[in-house]
Amino acid sequence: MSLVMHLDLAAWRAHLDATADAVGGLVPVAKGNGYGYGLPRLARETRRLRDRSSAGGGHGVDTLAVGTADEVALVRAGLDDQPGWDGDIVVLTPWSPHDPVATALLTDPRVISTVGRLDDLRHLDAMHPGARVLVEVLTSMRRHGLPRRDLARVGEVNGSLTLEGWTIHLPMRGNTTAEARQLARACTASVAMPLWLSHLDVEHFRLLSSEVNVETRLRLGTALWLGAPASRRITARVLDMHPVSRGDRIGYWQRPAWADGWVVVVSGGTAEGVAMAAPTPGSSMGQRARALVTGSMDAAGLALSPYTLDGRKRFFIEPPHMQSSLVFLPGAGSVAIGDEVTVEVRLTTATVDRVLES
Ligand SMILES: *Cc1c(COP(=O)(O)O)cnc(C)c1O
Repeated sequence: MSLVMHLDLAAWRAHLDATADAVGGLVPVAKGNGYGYGLPRLARETRRLRDRSSAGGGHGVDTLAVGTADEVALVRAGLDDQPGWDGDIVVLTPWSPHDPVATALLTDPRVISTVGRLDDLRHLDAMHPGARVLVEVLTSMRRHGLPRRDLARVGEVNGSLTLEGWTIHLPMRGNTTAEARQLARACTASVAMPLWLSHLDVEHFRLLSSEVNVETRLRLGTALWLGAPASRRITARVLDMHPVSRGDRIGYWQRPAWADGWVVVVSGGTAEGVAMAAPTPGSSMGQRARALVTGSMDAAGLALSPYTLDGRKRFFIEPPHMQSSLVFLPGAGSVAIGDEVTVEVRLTTATVDRVLES
């Protein structure tokens, strides 16, 4: 057992339910590492949100979004003995002629493909009649999508495709509401069909929804799954520990211990996404200079680890190994082999080995 997520299911679900109720037109996004929970668990929760909304009326959750074509099968697979997602699935990465899995899914009646180029739309129209597609519009993010000048051509292209809507993926910064509004207007003026939005906050999504005459959907990943942070705790185990004196050489890199204390071997390493903090834009030269003056550990080339031992985060002795990490505990040693310790990981990049629901 390496990293474990302890999940308070009732608290998490209360947040998921509240988000679904607040959004109206919510499309949960389950992609990549499944936001730390794994894709099958997110599929199970999306099913629960759907069943709940169909029982209680209101705006139903009827579609799940995945990142890539390969993830379609992963959300359809169940978790343990429970069924996976069997409703509509949007693939967020635009269809590409170089992806045979994405191409095979064009004939799947439950899959909605995203199209990001006018040429691709024309190609699908000619070669894959009946495919369900969302047309992505290029935003100031400049990742995927048709530029504004191509929007008017979409109406001309459509002969055989089932156009499900426009998709607008906004950047995280800037006046995204104004941009969303402008694009929404340009899109619906070309073809009046539903708008699927990403990265608009709920309040602005609701405002925009009230301004347009088409159905609106909001795709949420992080805000949905990783809200309610108190509902989960990630832990590692103390695998081993060794007393050292100041100056003893330790680790792969044989760095001298900087004090008397303990080498503590904790579970979790690069394979689980445990990382030395990357330099942030904030760790400027000025801050480094200040660290030098104050003689802080960062200045000595030490990185604070995400592991809390005896009440505080401790320094890495060296970069994490593949499945364990060496951290230094100065002093007499107040943890024991087998102890469970809290570790703070970014769940969009971490791999949790087990989720324990309570
Ligand atoms: C990943 C993704 C999302 C969800 O992103 P979060 O920041 O996790 O909410 C929404 N829309 C698109 C197009 C995406 O690729």
